[in-house]
Amino acid sequence: MTRIAVVGAGVAGLGVAYALRDAAPVTLFERRERVGGRAATREQADCVYDTGANYVKSDDERVSRVVRELSDGLVDVEEPVWTFDADETISEGRDENTEKWTYRNGIGTLGQRLLDASDATVRTNTRIVGSQKDKSDGWYVEDDSGNEHGPYDELVLTPPAPLTASLLEFAAWGDDETRRELREHVGHVPYRTILSVVLHYPFEIDRPYYALVNTDKEHEIGWLARESCKPGHVPDGESLLVVQMAPDWSAEHYDWEDSEIVAAAADHVADLLSDHSLSAPDWFDVIRWRDALPDSGADTDVLRRAAEVNLHFAGDWVAGDGRVHRALGSGLDVGERIRNKNRRG
Ligand SMILES: Cc1cc2nc3c(=O)[nH]c(=O)nc-3n(C[C@H](O)[C@H](O)[C@H](O)COP(=O)(O)OP(=O)(O)OC[C@H]3O[C@@H](n4cnc5c(N)ncnc54)[C@H](O)[C@@H]3O)c2cc1C
Repeated sequence: MTRIAVVGAGVAGLGVAYALRDAAPVTLFERRERVGGRAATREQADCVYDTGANYVKSDDERVSRVVRELSDGLVDVEEPVWTFDADETISEGRDENTEKWTYRNGIGTLGQRLLDASDATVRTNTRIVGSQKDKSDGWYVEDDSGNEHGPYDELVLTPPAPLTASLLEFAAWGDDETRRELREHVGHVPYRTILSVVLHYPFEIDRPYYALVNTDKEHEIGWLARESCKPGHVPDGESLLVVQMAPDWSAEHYDWEDSEIVAAAADHVADLLSDHSLSAPDWFDVIRWRDALPDSGADTDVLRRAAEVNLHFAGDWVAGDGRVHRALGSGLDVGERIRNKNRRG
């Protein structure tokens, strides 16, 4: 039976495992303690908050079907998204017809549900640093403790493009020229950096919208969301704002202390919402996303050439859009391709 190794257990890697459930043994290697990647949730002081992706959109029928299959605890954010510009003029946004899903226990539940529904083995706290293809045997991957895992018949790489490019640097397979071309191609996918700043207040912030998005890209804040609009996330009488700072601001302030980032972000929030009590949250959290969102995608023709040596890629950067449903769809695609190949073979 075909054995499959997947590096990275974000929704793309988990999508591969889900598509291959009951068809082939899949082993996922994840450098972090938990699965889900950038679809991540934290908990603190009775609050649940989504620190990367804020929700999954029901934009893709096949992905929506999968999410509905895993719907225990699924909640829809019903309040709308409004907009603001550099002058801090807040305007009613367009009504979209898609749902905005997360879970009562946070969007991180999606990753865990995908894993539970597949029969994959997951090795968490295992960072892969190299891979090699043995002609007779198949693929081997090496972790940062020097352990070798394998052999596997198919290898799928799903980390964000800059991390996948550095993995390709330590890969031994095929000829030098093919490897160099692929590595350079993947390494050129640009990513935006985002600092997610979480601000908690011991009082309610009542507004007619769930979130505000900056449309002219000229403000220090890119996105601001009221986590209390997600059922089960914030106790009554309290508020928790998830503030994503603009990519330029985030890159410039990436190495600041958390407390300095929070002080600056909270002042911007107080100005934007015209409420100076918001400059003093009673607690906070800061999450640094160096490779937050891809600005474009990779050329799928170049990536597909690697399939000749049973090497595959999945992720938002393969789909060309930093969205959970696109990343999950990309993982399902790869899983289905491997599944069909096995059937034919
Ligand atoms: C701040 C922020 C806000 C966002 N908002 C939204 C939103 O509202 N809606 C939406 O749809 N999308 C949003 N996104 C985008 C969405 O989160 C991503 O597009 C999606 O989660 C990407 O999934 P992925 O599996 O491709 O990558 P990832 O989730 O990054 O998964 C890759 C996994 O690989 C692991 N990994 C990396 N290197 C190695 C290694 N060497 N060995 C082992 N494991 C490794 C990582 O730890 C990670 O778990 C947001 C993202 C961010 C950061």
